[in-house]
Amino acid sequence: MTLDVGREEMTERELAELVELLRSLIRIKSVNPPGDEILAARYLEQVLADEGIPSTVVEPFPGRGSIVARVRGDGTGGDPLLLLSHLDVVPAEPEGWTHDPFGGDLADGYVWGRGAVDMKSMVAMEVQVMRRLARAARADGRNPASDPIPNLSRDVIFCSTADEEAGGWQGAGWLVDNHPDWLHAAGALNEAGGMAMAYGGVRFYPIQVAEKGFVVYKLHVKGRWGHGSVPTPDNAAVLAARIVARLAEPGPVRLTQAIGVSLARALPHLGARALAAIAVLAPAAGAGNSAADADTARAAVDPARVEAALRELCDPVLARTVSAMIHDTISVGIVHAGVKYNVIPGVAEIEIDCRTLPGTDEPAMLDELHRRIGDELWARIEVECEQTGPAVQAPLDSPLYRLLEKVVVDHDAGGVPLPFLAPFATDAKHLARIGVPTYGFSPLKTGSGDGLLELMHGDDERVSVEALHFGLPVLWDAVRAFCS
Ligand SMILES: [Zn+2]
Repeated sequence: MTLDVGREEMTERELAELVELLRSLIRIKSVNPPGDEILAARYLEQVLADEGIPSTVVEPFPGRGSIVARVRGDGTGGDPLLLLSHLDVVPAEPEGWTHDPFGGDLADGYVWGRGAVDMKSMVAMEVQVMRRLARAARADGRNPASDPIPNLSRDVIFCSTADEEAGGWQGAGWLVDNHPDWLHAAGALNEAGGMAMAYGGVRFYPIQVAEKGFVVYKLHVKGRWGHGSVPTPDNAAVLAARIVARLAEPGPVRLTQAIGVSLARALPHLGARALAAIAVLAPAAGAGNSAADADTARAAVDPARVEAALRELCDPVLARTVSAMIHDTISVGIVHAGVKYNVIPGVAEIEIDCRTLPGTDEPAMLDELHRRIGDELWARIEVECEQTGPAVQAPLDSPLYRLLEKVVVDHDAGGVPLPFLAPFATDAKHLARIGVPTYGFSPLKTGSGDGLLELMHGDDERVSVEALHFGLPVLWDAVRAFCS
């Protein structure tokens, strides 16, 4: 690995190919459910074959295709680098769109369509990196299918998967369970990071190093059946409503490692108003990754003041996102009670979606649930854990992470890279199971008004050609530096 690689320019042809590849991928409808990612996987198989790169397409469930390809280094640099991505997208209703969400239109300097940001742009950039590596081999008289690529010291694996938007169990999860050796790597680059976010005139580049875990609970509320003519506080619907109201209150604030470092890094770039508002978080700083520290933070930081500060500092979408990064969140998804208007319900069910910070395991989440609901109502419920997965944390002091920060600054001298905790889960959770640290790094430089957070899964998802032209050389330089 070298930290001093400088920048390499892409050719006009490569940049044009990138845009066309993204447009083609958007036109391949891989909406999950049902997925049909096999169509995109087969398409990419052909694109790579045209460059002399063999790949393996798997379809462990009908229509659910994932693709894995590898080019070789000379092996002196250590374990491979994995370029990870997913082929599926979430649904899009055309009514809210300016352009056909599956048309791949190129208009007003943007590529429009579902997946433009999440995450077919990164798929296309990864494929362009593979193409460039294969072409370097061929230009040197080598066969990219079998020979080492010139100046490449480790293998580069490309893996684009099915099903990420629904948990990834038929994509990355299946590959990890059945072919872990295909994905074994020193590190992986994936979605959810590396995209510029303008704030206060500064471009921040959050690089995802961690993501939250999850616990889904079903709460069985026990009341007493009765006649509607004689109301009773034992009405299970009323008990459920009281519980739901308590769960809606924000819980204690905890700054995990990624957010603590990020805040410290951002402070010198923020104005006086922001600094004053952020001061309410100060007692939580250094609380670290231990759930036990949450007790200290809970005593010191008033969650209501933190929410107010976020609302003052950020637009509503960003405020909610940042809030989710500093709390173990609880979201009520389903409430069921009752069989008839004049029958007092004796039972009710509440299903809740808890997202856990690194350091909060399932028992700790259960304790927090108990604390919020309170002893009296707690005695009226039985709690069933339906599913759970741990939070993921990749090291901040790794050579790969430091390299990603450096490459960003090399390409945008005024940019400020920051470690970032994603409030949602990605395929990184599967790679963590085989010990591959995954960094969210799908670089795009965006102008003002491009609000990537809203565009992901939103109407009029689009990415500017300029952002793509910025991203590809950044990704290329990161790959080249880590693998040379
Ligand atoms: Zn995604």
